[in-house]
Amino acid sequence: MIKLESNNLRITDIRVAYIDGLPKSMILLKVYTNSDIIGYGELRDASSASYALLLKSRVLGENPLDVNKLFNRVKQFGYHSRQGGGVSGIICALYDIVGKYYGIPLYQLLGGKYRDKVRLYCDTDVSGRHTGRDMGMALKKRMDDGYTFLKMDLGIELLLDEPGALNAPSGMIEDIKKYSLKAIQHQSGSIDRSLMYGKNYEVFTIPHWATGIHITEYGLDILEEYLRQVREVIGYEIPLAVDHFGHLAVEDAVRFARRAEKYNLAWMEDIAPWNTPSQLEKFTRALTQPICTGEDIYLAENFRDVLEAGVGVVHPDVLTIGGPAEIMSLGKLCGKYGAAMAIHMAESPIGFMAAVHCAAALEQVLAVEMHSVDYEDWYKLINPNVKIKDGFVSVPETPGLGIESLNEELIEKYRTDGSPKPWTETENWNNEWSNDRIWS
Ligand SMILES: [Mg+2]
Repeated sequence: MIKLESNNLRITDIRVAYIDGLPKSMILLKVYTNSDIIGYGELRDASSASYALLLKSRVLGENPLDVNKLFNRVKQFGYHSRQGGGVSGIICALYDIVGKYYGIPLYQLLGGKYRDKVRLYCDTDVSGRHTGRDMGMALKKRMDDGYTFLKMDLGIELLLDEPGALNAPSGMIEDIKKYSLKAIQHQSGSIDRSLMYGKNYEVFTIPHWATGIHITEYGLDILEEYLRQVREVIGYEIPLAVDHFGHLAVEDAVRFARRAEKYNLAWMEDIAPWNTPSQLEKFTRALTQPICTGEDIYLAENFRDVLEAGVGVVHPDVLTIGGPAEIMSLGKLCGKYGAAMAIHMAESPIGFMAAVHCAAALEQVLAVEMHSVDYEDWYKLINPNVKIKDGFVSVPETPGLGIESLNEELIEKYRTDGSPKPWTETENWNNEWSNDRIWS
C-alpha cells in the first residue's frame, strides 16, 4: 500500500467499462491516482462515456481530495438527465478516494447516519398484455420476498390496443406503437441507440403536451379497474408508487390521477415533465396525494421550481444530480418545502452504494430504488456482493463506497456489444481543452 502525504496525491487517469443486460446499459468508471487507491464511479444509465471523458484533462494532475474545488471546475459541463452523468460519476469516484484515503465510509463524510439499514423499493414489471390482478400477483411475490415498499408502471400503453380508450390526432397512436415499442418496454431492458435516430427520435422525445393524446372515460375505467385489482391482491397497507403514465395531455393525466386517489398511492411519478413546473402545479392543486419528480434534474438548485410547485416527493439520482453533496443540499431544500425524498437508482451496484450512503445520511429519505432484483449477477458485480435482506440493505462501515473491488470477470461477461475492452486507455482525451471561463 502506497501511503502518500495528502498534499501529494494526484489524479493520474480515468477509464471506463461499458456493460449491458443487468438489465440496463451502464458505464462504470475508475479514477486512478499516483497511489494504490482507485475511486469507483458510474455514469447514469444509458449515458455516454464522453460526458465523463471530456472532463479528464480538467482534473488530471489535480488532488482528488479537493472534491469541492474539482466539482466547481467541472460543474459547468453537466446538464440534466444523462448529461449529468459525467460530473456525477467523477465526483462519486472522488468521494470514494477520499473515504479510502482517510479510512472513512462515505455516509460519515456526509455527516453521519440516520439509519443502519436503508429501505429499498423495487420496480416490478409484467410483460405483455395483462391484468391488474397479474400485476398484483407479481407485487405480492416481492412482498413475500420481504420488500416493504413497491412500485409499478401504469399508463396509456395498456390502452394502445383497446378500441375506444384513447383519442389522438390521426397517426399518433400508430406512430407510438410502431416506433416507441422499445421505449414502452424499457423498464425491463435498456434504452438502445436505435431510439435516438430518425423517426424513432421524434416519437420518443415528443413532450407530453404535444402528443394530443386524450383518455376517454372508458379508458379511465380500465386504468382504475387495474388499480383496484392490484390493491385487491396486495392490500392497502403497503406503500405503492406508480410510474410511466405515458405522454398525454396534462388535463387528462389529472383526471386519471383523481381516479387513482382512492387507491392511496405513495406517489405518482413524472406524471408531467419536471421542466414544466406550471403543469406540475396543476396536479398539486387538484390532488390530495403526492406527485414525484426529479430523476432527471441536475444540481440541487434546479429542484426549487418543482418544490415551489408543491411536489411531495423528490426523486434525485446521485448520478444525475451531481453526486453525494448535491443530494445533501437537496435534503436541506426538502426541509424548507416539506418534501420527502426517494432516491432513483437504475444503475450498477456502484451507483447503488452511492445512493445507499446518501440515504443513510439524510433524514427525509423514504427508500432507494432497486431495478435489478431479478438479476443474480447484478449483486455480484462488486466485492463484497450486494446483500439484501427483507427489502433492506445494511449501510457499509468500510471506507468510501464500501466496495473492495469490482468483479472483472462479470464486467467482461456483460461487456456491451461493440464497446471497447473494459478499462481501455483513454489517452486521446488527455489534451482536450477549451477556454472554460464563462464570463469575459
Ligand atoms: Mg421513473
